[in-house]
Amino acid sequence: MKTGQIIAALLIAMMINFFFSHTIQAQTPANRVPLNVIATHSILGDLVARVGGDAITLHVIVGPDGDSHTYEPIPADNVTLNEANIIFETGLHFEGWLDALFEASESKGTRIVVTQGIIPLGFGGEGVAADERPLSTPVSDDAEVDPHFWQDVANAINAVNIIRDTLVAADPANEPIYRANATAYLAELHALDDYIVAQTELLPIERRILVTNHDAFGYFAYRYGYTITGSAFPSFTTEAEDPSAQDIAQLVDVIKASGAPAIFPENIENAKLIERIAGEAGVAMAPPLFSDALGQPGTDGDTYIRMMRFNIDTIVAALSA
Ligand code: ZN
Repeated sequence: MKTGQIIAALLIAMMINFFFSHTIQAQTPANRVPLNVIATHSILGDLVARVGGDAITLHVIVGPDGDSHTYEPIPADNVTLNEANIIFETGLHFEGWLDALFEASESKGTRIVVTQGIIPLGFGGEGVAADERPLSTPVSDDAEVDPHFWQDVANAINAVNIIRDTLVAADPANEPIYRANATAYLAELHALDDYIVAQTELLPIERRILVTNHDAFGYFAYRYGYTITGSAFPSFTTEAEDPSAQDIAQLVDVIKASGAPAIFPENIENAKLIERIAGEAGVAMAPPLFSDALGQPGTDGDTYIRMMRFNIDTIVAALSA
């Protein structure tokens, strides 16, 4: 960790402490009820569940295989938010529906952005044509920031630290539980990060090429050394319009020129367009990667660690072919 990041992490911890010492009364064992905690989506929900364990009541808004970009809140979400003590969110414009929902629910809960302190990535390169700007470039301006932080395990580790500090500050009576849970989970996350690095090393550098459905893998590419050659929907959200015939023809040419043996659909979106592009480019369509949500319980991607392991195993197998 660089000095700047350590200072940022300390500042965040201090802010969280200050906030809770002034807003939520620390609970005494006599009146203790579990903290009512919300995570906006399934991936974040898994990180919170691993730290909070049985000491919290957790509700996840956008569930497995759900698309947080286009989510439309339901009436029950108002009640859920209204009763929440803490709401964990991605920030970086990921949950575009949350501000209005939060206000409508008259929630008194505390919103905690779990991407505080990370290096945000986006489309970089000033003076470069819009369709030629490199992805996965550190950016300071948040106009076009990539919200998919979890695709870099280091950012998930940062989020777990924030989740632990938040729960400890809000519920000091359960501090030993939160600390023990977080410590055990962080060890697993470090092992996961090492695994992704080691598996990537099995691939020749020129094979480390990703073409996906939407631009959800920028943090993955930046951290683990992949090049994103193109996307069916070149956008950080899934709300982009369908690409034109010309866009598709261009992407097909790019894929052919790149030598990529396979391209990747995602679990949250149907694979029709990427299937057509694979057909036209004469490359394989790999099994869907888990992009913005966990898979259903019992599938390969039903926890954060399992989804990341499935993704790297799938990427390495498809690009080795
Ligand atoms: Zn996305």
